[in-house]
Amino acid sequence: MVQVVISEEDRGEEINIKEKEEAEGFEELCKRLIKGLEIHIFEEKVREAMLRVPRHKFVPEYEKRAAYLDMPLEIGYGQTISAPHMVAIMCELLELAEGHKVLEIGAGSGYNAAVMGELVGKSGHVYAVERLEPLVHFARKNLKETGYDNVTVLLGDGSMGYSKYAPYDRIAVTCAAPCIPEPLLEQLKPGGIMVIPVGNYSQELIRIEKDREDNIRKEKKGEVIFVPLIGKYGF
Ligand code: SAH
Repeated sequence: MVQVVISEEDRGEEINIKEKEEAEGFEELCKRLIKGLEIHIFEEKVREAMLRVPRHKFVPEYEKRAAYLDMPLEIGYGQTISAPHMVAIMCELLELAEGHKVLEIGAGSGYNAAVMGELVGKSGHVYAVERLEPLVHFARKNLKETGYDNVTVLLGDGSMGYSKYAPYDRIAVTCAAPCIPEPLLEQLKPGGIMVIPVGNYSQELIRIEKDREDNIRKEKKGEVIFVPLIGKYGF
């Protein structure tokens, strides 16, 4: 019988090839997903940002294979990473641009923050607040491994905003509030935009614009389903 002995070096090579093949496979799946989202994504820069963020690096190991399906996925602690089309819709409504300072409420996996990080570029910054400590660590780990150093994950009750870095050009709330938290309106810059799901069981995505004179204009953008915002100005 011929025994094949695989050296450590060959084994290392084998693992590298497997990882490369896996990465290429995920890249292909990502391209297919984004192509399928054409009915939701109208802006080229949002499409490009979503192509650059590897969603499989933001979900638990057992869900990697499902990472490029257009659906929300569990991230533990009863929370979910939003469906890709929802991330695209929120990014478009926010009209994100290079250099923006963004506040996200509900960091979760860090995925949405990474997509926004792509859109605001190196001169911008995303501050993502999360109330559950294990998810703060999860999001930080995911963002570190994917190289998003323009995103900072903060532990806290985001229903009160995050006054330390206020005011913000944009505010993205990725959990549903009973009504619009006053501190978030205060921490939005004049000329700024906020997107927030509001409601109990049936929620409405609201786009809020604050003009240069601090007047607030609200627009309903359709029914959505998000996990609840829990906190002082939440449920
Ligand atoms: N944007 C996330 C998904 C968010 S799920 C992603 O891309 O993965 C909503 C998140 O909001 C959950 O992680 C939940 O713990 C968090 N959350 C709920 N209430 C909060 C609050 N008051 N402050 C900060 N985070 C909150």
